[in-house]
Amino acid sequence: MARDLNVVARPAADRPDLLRPKRRSTPSADVGGVLVGSAHPIVVQSMTNTDTADAASTAAQVASLAAAGSQLVRVTVNTDAAAKALPELATRLADLGVMVPIVGDFHYNGHKLLAAYPPAAAMLAKYRINPGNVGTKHRDENFQTIVKIAVDNGKPVRIGVNWGSLDQDLLTRLMEENAASSAPTSARAVTIEAIVRSALQSAELAEATGLGHDRILLSAKTSNVRDLIDVYRELAGRCDYPLHLGLTEAGMGAKGIVASASALGVLLNEGIGDTIRVSLTPEPGADRALEVEVAQQILQSMGLRAFTPQVTSCPGCGRTTSSFFQEMAKEIQDYLREQMPRWRGAHPGVEELEVAVMGCVVNGPGESKHANLGISLPGTFEEPVAPVFVDGALRTTLRGDRIVAEFIEILDAYVVQHYPAVPQETSPAS
Ligand code: SF4
Repeated sequence: MARDLNVVARPAADRPDLLRPKRRSTPSADVGGVLVGSAHPIVVQSMTNTDTADAASTAAQVASLAAAGSQLVRVTVNTDAAAKALPELATRLADLGVMVPIVGDFHYNGHKLLAAYPPAAAMLAKYRINPGNVGTKHRDENFQTIVKIAVDNGKPVRIGVNWGSLDQDLLTRLMEENAASSAPTSARAVTIEAIVRSALQSAELAEATGLGHDRILLSAKTSNVRDLIDVYRELAGRCDYPLHLGLTEAGMGAKGIVASASALGVLLNEGIGDTIRVSLTPEPGADRALEVEVAQQILQSMGLRAFTPQVTSCPGCGRTTSSFFQEMAKEIQDYLREQMPRWRGAHPGVEELEVAVMGCVVNGPGESKHANLGISLPGTFEEPVAPVFVDGALRTTLRGDRIVAEFIEILDAYVVQHYPAVPQETSPAS
């Protein structure tokens, strides 16, 4: 039976992937001009892996992460040399025209470094403190020293608990209380409670030290997906601070990407999370910016933000034995990525464009109609023609050797027509 190629696609408003979950309400924290909170888009951030004392290498990596779309970049501040290098890092970034706010990551000696290097304290947009790593004997005192410097410099603080460096005194105390209880719970539940309580008690101490409620962000990371989900649900229900989400030590490659997406996807879908980082272990020599791309892709896949046009393509099967459709899907994806630096400014909204490149007639026309622009390539034994759909309707049928080039021409025309440049305001002639 002939297929009806002109069935109109569902309107975008009916598509469940575009329905956004209601965000948990949080105040806005200003991190060097980037606002983090439920009134603002979820912020993507990342972290360098260069030696911060090497300002040139760090500046180059920060620039690369920022170019990939990281809105905040965290750097390790672990030594005198690292703290001393921060003003030079700022200068180098300014010379490169990179304005991304820099966050300082402190463990063990943050109270000493921030006190000893005021220019570093002034240059950073936010301080990250791990309450499990501020000492044992003078834990609160060291923590408060950092908070006071944040107050004096007008900086926000992220209280970043990590289960690998959880406050052991607190954990031991809760374990003992649990053991003595008439209805003891599991060690896992106690550990989750210790993680959450470490974050909340530290936030309480920070406010008691003078830090504004809207200058505090919390994170409580674990490396296990289900633990992370439970920790953040608990944390989200017990405070209104903006939450930084991330699966710590996510791992390498597909494992790290899938684990991060699984954990963050569940939480984001419940409206939990104001900023995210994907902590991937890069392959040796690989581009650090992959973690930014993955974070963006998580948000875009969930319909929470749009960063770049998306290509929907089928996996292929025995119905399409040539590699042409895979090559075309890749060519179109690469083309869209290459155009984005120019299109982003020239064609506002183009990041929401959806393109389908499909392998055969089985799902090709249907999927192509759901996209803004779609092409259904001929499968094995099908007539060698490729219908092109624009906004759900059959526009034309391509054939021959120029299918990719002609589809790109249609794509370019669509972008120009549907995402017109915003006219620049011109000042009246004097
Ligand atoms: S659209 Fe066709 S080629 Fe692609 S997976 Fe489905 S049946 Fe296979």
